[in-house]
Amino acid sequence: PRKELIVVTPTYNRALQSYFLNRLGQVLRLVPPPILWIVVEMNSASTETAEILRKTDVMYRHLVCTKNSTSVKDRGVHQRNTALDHIEHHRLDGIVYFADDDNIYSLKLFETLRDISRFGTWPVAMLAQSKNKAILEGPVCNSSQVIGWHTNEKSKRLRRFHVDVSGFAFNSTILWDPKRWRRPTSSPIRQLGTVKEGFQETTFIEQLVEDESQMEGSPPDCSKIMNWHLHLDAHNIAYPKGWLLQKNLDVV
Ligand code: UDP
Repeated sequence: PRKELIVVTPTYNRALQSYFLNRLGQVLRLVPPPILWIVVEMNSASTETAEILRKTDVMYRHLVCTKNSTSVKDRGVHQRNTALDHIEHHRLDGIVYFADDDNIYSLKLFETLRDISRFGTWPVAMLAQSKNKAILEGPVCNSSQVIGWHTNEKSKRLRRFHVDVSGFAFNSTILWDPKRWRRPTSSPIRQLGTVKEGFQETTFIEQLVEDESQMEGSPPDCSKIMNWHLHLDAHNIAYPKGWLLQKNLDVV
């Protein structure tokens, strides 16, 4: 049987939300089942999001995160943790992947997720937030063996693993079965968000794997890009004069 894919997406209402969620939903719809899309909002389940999800034809769960967000920098962190709690609590068995709503994903990526046994990682192409520069973040590989990292920007050498939030996926059973996986620590996994920006991914991953030898790099030689993290929301989009876009723009 095919492995279940558990795709976690934090989202919030803004002008391009409908466009983003529809685009992601349409990719997920092309992925052979079983696939579960866990979409998480802050504070309450909005009718806008519920409406979009109903139309996508993808198996989904619409969750709400009630933790008080302390900073705008949190950007979906607590929502991802709500999904992790849900996956652990219900023992959802599958490959967990954090897919932000505004990123761009190829079908190949979702195919590749099913080959992951413990922890998979791959390079993600992104626009650097400060400069308008395209960079890579993620592993350098020899076949499927991770032998190094593309590093960049401020956290250059300080991070243990240079992985984007949408550049890795893992077997959900690692969350509740430390023995089977000989996890670095048998204490419960501390979730994302307790550390400063840029270190959330590595701090989380350091609890899932001991080192690169427990990682599977893909595709072979990590030679192809399967998703793009463009930080579109972070860039001030110049809307045409006279447009007022505070609410969701509908997508047919
Ligand atoms: N997000 C959210 N609430 C926020 C900010 C972000 O739910 O207040 C979600 C957003 O929809 C996306 C993810 O968190 O799925 C990452 O956000 P963003 O794209 O703004 O971060 P960046 O791409 O700059 O890392």
